Amino acid sequence: MPLSIHINGSRGRMGQAVAAAVREAGLTVAAETDVGDDLRAGMASADAVIDFSSPAATGEILRHALELRKPVVIGTTGHEAAERKRLLAIAAGVPCVWAGNFSVGVNLLFALTRRAAAVLGADYDAEVVEMHHRFKKDAPSGTAARLLEIILEERKLTAEALRHGREGLTGERQPTEVGVHALRGGDVVGDHTVIFAALGERVELVHKASDRGIFARGAVRAARWIVGRPAGVYDMQDVLALK
Ligand code: NAD
Repeated sequence: MPLSIHINGSRGRMGQAVAAAVREAGLTVAAETDVGDDLRAGMASADAVIDFSSPAATGEILRHALELRKPVVIGTTGHEAAERKRLLAIAAGVPCVWAGNFSVGVNLLFALTRRAAAVLGADYDAEVVEMHHRFKKDAPSGTAARLLEIILEERKLTAEALRHGREGLTGERQPTEVGVHALRGGDVVGDHTVIFAALGERVELVHKASDRGIFARGAVRAARWIVGRPAGVYDMQDVLALK
């Protein structure tokens, strides 16, 4: 029997992309729920749950998941830090994949950035450039923020090292700086470039997204992976064996 999936947030952009990705992968959509639908009944009918809805839904999903012993994939973003911490503690009681970015390519970019930052060392100036569509309301993107976090971790630096754009008489670049630049325009889904530049050579790691189907396919891959695993919170680095 193919795995059956419950999709929460089914009327949304991601919910619809997930439904397409589930069918494309040869799995079954057991139930689709959105605001006002019976979440518990939907969850009970499936082998696993994929949620791309709103942060307000996560607590209820996890409560039902604990009761029903149901594996969950949480793609919803935007939780307050304290709320996220509280929810992660509950999520640890069920098999759960929770990731801010389900793209396989972006997760590989995270791993490659960590490796590059470690191998290339502080002599290679690190800068992150991202570009998104003109409608995006925040900067830098969450994905750029994660890339920067990885570089800071590897270089044992704090967020004080970040330089958000440069203007005027900035002086020479300091080796401890990590630059970050956000470009906006048109309909760009999401481009991220990590640059490591030394005297004499430069390494650039580039990822370009052109379709939100990449997040949906990653979430379906996570759902297949999580079924049958022990309880615990995993991310896409676990799913892709990148740790
Ligand atoms: P959207 O607004 O198009 O869709 C959200 C859907 O969820 C809507 O149909 C809405 O009615 C429904 N919804 C809201 N609250 C609900 C609730 N309590 N119960 C059930 N359904 C509810 O948004 P979207 O673009 O599909 O994104 C959804 C979420 O996924 C956002 O948090 C977004 O940031 C996140 N997202 C994550 C990734 C990733 O890779 N992790 C990628 C893209 C989007």
